[in-house]
Amino acid sequence: MADYHQIYDPDDVLFFTVGKPGKRTFYFGVDKDSQQIVLKMEKQQVGALSDSLRKILPQFSTQSIKQYEPPKDFEPLWTVGTIGVKYDTATNSVIIIFQQLTEDPEQESSVLEVIMDSEQAAQLAKLGVELVEQGRPICIYCGGPIDEQGHICPRSNGHRPVVDDT
Ligand SMILES: [Zn+2]
Repeated sequence: MADYHQIYDPDDVLFFTVGKPGKRTFYFGVDKDSQQIVLKMEKQQVGALSDSLRKILPQFSTQSIKQYEPPKDFEPLWTVGTIGVKYDTATNSVIIIFQQLTEDPEQESSVLEVIMDSEQAAQLAKLGVELVEQGRPICIYCGGPIDEQGHICPRSNGHRPVVDDT
């Protein structure tokens, strides 16, 4: 059954990750009073949403981000498929519409709409950008990610790891 939630003026909105770099799972969380909703996202979606917010907000906040505590026990409600963003200049508020990823195109997808002020949205975008950038180090030769085990660089014929112990 598809469900619909709308959260207006949340206490907290955040992105957070679980797992080690390279194996991180991304989540979006929203809190309002005692209600908490967590959605599972792709890293690319967090990056794209943060970029969209940065583009639509008239002034992107550069102040340091508030430190959020990721929830300790949570169960994601569903996985995000598509995301829509609207900026309402009249109320200076941002509406983010998350739509559930469904495997069956016939299935109706659940929706979560979160309406927040632009400052909160700017903080969320900043957090998203920081989280996405906190991934694995990038190889300076090929731009590929370097795992804990090192990295077989295609630029060096795929034979030797770039990371050495020296
Ligand atoms: Zn490389």
